[in-house]
Amino acid sequence: MTRTVYVNGEFLPEDQAKISIFDRAFLMSDGVYEVTSVLDGKLIAFDGHLKRLERSLSELEIRNPLTEDEWLSIHRQLVEANGITDGLVYLQVTRGAPGDRDFAWPDPETCPPTVVLFTQNKPGLAESPAAKIGMKVISIPDIRWGRRDIKTVQLLYPSMGKMMAKKAGADDAWLVEDGLVTEGTSNNAYIVKGNQIITRQLSNDILHGITRAAVLTLAREAQMEVVERPFTIAEAQQADEAFISSASAFVMPVVEIDGAALGDGKPGKVSARMREIYLDEMRKTAI
Ligand code: PLP
Repeated sequence: MTRTVYVNGEFLPEDQAKISIFDRAFLMSDGVYEVTSVLDGKLIAFDGHLKRLERSLSELEIRNPLTEDEWLSIHRQLVEANGITDGLVYLQVTRGAPGDRDFAWPDPETCPPTVVLFTQNKPGLAESPAAKIGMKVISIPDIRWGRRDIKTVQLLYPSMGKMMAKKAGADDAWLVEDGLVTEGTSNNAYIVKGNQIITRQLSNDILHGITRAAVLTLAREAQMEVVERPFTIAEAQQADEAFISSASAFVMPVVEIDGAALGDGKPGKVSARMREIYLDEMRKTAI
């Protein structure tokens, strides 16, 4: 089925959607994005994603071209047009297409941002078999730039990291800087030790995950102790459990790190519980 996508004010069949070759995102990765999950036809944590979009744009001095109501309406229209029950809505805003290549930013008065949205259909997204088996991760050096708090479309290294993991027979890579885990290629990383859930504190070193924020709130409500500090791969390998979080994977257990099985090599109870609590709460608050 041909998808309906959104490009700069128009809803179009995907094969009729066009972007200029001079678009700054194509030439310079000069753009930001967001990914929102859809469960039962409703948007998960939508407000959080819009707030982070606003922040990413303002850090890069790109004007937010749409109002909150407009963003919501476009998301809903795409979910409807593409018959999405479970899936994802991907949005991208770039600094626009100035009609030539230049390092200097174009005048925002004459070069409006480019806006693209599309859906991905993922039937049974929340019933992923991977959640029952758990993920294997490898560690790789974190050589990304210093503003990982901005959700830019510069995804080459995370994509290389996924390929390194795949070649090593693993599912994903955890990134390590100065001996400490920053995050996963496209998710936040956690370990569990006793009653403590440990995850790196927010800074410019990691993306401020919307799922992370909800998971930590829900963990505290469930009487878990949340400790926001970095950890090493060696500490993670000795932990009771580990997991990752992201808008598309929700909470996903990690069962192996650099070839070392955690505990009995099966998804841990805390990870499974946090996934359940998170999905329950998100379904309740979906819009
Ligand atoms: N960290 C990175 C590098 C990511 O790319 C993502 C999501 O794409 C996350 C963390 C998780 O963020 P969220 O929970 O908002 O999806």
